[in-house]
Amino acid sequence: MLCERTALCEAVGAMVPVLQQQAAADDAAGDFPGDSFHRLRQLGLLRAPLPETLGGLGLGDGASGAAALLRLLALLGEASLPVARLYEAHVNALQLICRYGNESLIRRCAADAVAGALFALWVTDPPEGALTMHGEGDGYGLVGAKAFCSGAGTATRALVTAATLSGTQMLIISVDPGTRVLPSPIKLSGMRAATTGSMELTGIHVPADALLGETGDYLREPVFSAGAWRSAAAALGGLKALVALHRDEIRRRGRAQDPHQQARFGALLIAYETARLWMDQAALRGCLEDDSAAAIVAYVNLARLAVESACLDAMRLSQRSLGLGAFIAGHPAERICRDLATYLRQPAPDETLVKAASHYFHAPLPGPASATAA
Ligand SMILES: Cc1cc2nc3c(=O)[nH]c(=O)nc-3n(C[C@H](O)[C@H](O)[C@H](O)COP(=O)(O)OP(=O)(O)OC[C@H]3O[C@@H](n4cnc5c(N)ncnc54)[C@H](O)[C@@H]3O)c2cc1C
Repeated sequence: MLCERTALCEAVGAMVPVLQQQAAADDAAGDFPGDSFHRLRQLGLLRAPLPETLGGLGLGDGASGAAALLRLLALLGEASLPVARLYEAHVNALQLICRYGNESLIRRCAADAVAGALFALWVTDPPEGALTMHGEGDGYGLVGAKAFCSGAGTATRALVTAATLSGTQMLIISVDPGTRVLPSPIKLSGMRAATTGSMELTGIHVPADALLGETGDYLREPVFSAGAWRSAAAALGGLKALVALHRDEIRRRGRAQDPHQQARFGALLIAYETARLWMDQAALRGCLEDDSAAAIVAYVNLARLAVESACLDAMRLSQRSLGLGAFIAGHPAERICRDLATYLRQPAPDETLVKAASHYFHAPLPGPASATAA
């Protein structure tokens, strides 16, 4: 298993330059990264998050599974932040299905993933109101829409949340490609290739056996908040791409001997390495779940914000060093900064920080996983 995970990481690593080229074209067109996903599907990436018994590689299982998933998400982020975002949602959906699903739902979804289906995770409600479900025949009917749906029009399976009187219920739905995407005047400036749109879900019939878990499971901790480590891992990859690009560009311009450029590059390296070290620990804690829910969530919350902060610093430093060149449409730094700035807008950053701070007022200070567990 270890060898297969390593081989997969190496194959994805070798593909990074091709995916980077494709990312530029997909951004320009605002298209779903179909070619990239075709390549990744052929490598077995879509089934890799499943346990071995279901045809996967158990990404995220145990310490070595955590390391492999971290490496893969960071590689994908380095290649293309939209691809990483789409794949992260696929991993999230499959992990929730395997955790909360009954055997038949797990088997069906696993078979779909093995066959190459891309799962989405559509949980954000539009301002008009939450998606609801009501009894309909032997199952449920959906009423409403979902907002900010990445993979809208392409993902054929989705984990969605619906509001019920007893709480939030997860459901697995199937959608035909190209259907139910609502026309929307909202266009994100970055992450264009994640094809994030609104999905009209009214009229979808969900069989009773497509309900996932109990009401309230979606928001259950530590999984709900600690899952943020995966998005941060993807952002870390984007940060690495920016740092490498910065270095190459400054060298190409013959400015690597300038002390100001050196100082900014040094600060950039500190930001990157700080984020990378946080993520090593956050991935372990998020995957191993060998501490209290509160401790895991607090640590991952800090890690998420540390990566956000490193990325924001890196963009500021890079734009200062590269100058206007970094703002020319079509320059890779312009696209990466646009994607990164957009992707960093994850939910409730203020609450994330103060909740983590409150935790550590009454708990051992953050440190390596084994040190706090002891
Ligand atoms: C590229 C991209 C793809 C996405 N794809 C998907 C997808 O496929 N599926 C999906 O479900 N969602 C998706 N989302 C949406 C995502 O899940 C979040 O809903 C979104 O990123 C939240 O960002 P926000 O900045 O609006 O967060 P907010 O939480 O609204 O934060 C904005 C600011 O308001 C503050 N704030 C938050 N709550 C309060 C409050 N109550 N009072 C005062 N201040 C507050 C925050 O601290 C922050 O400063 C995507 C987002 C992005 C960027």
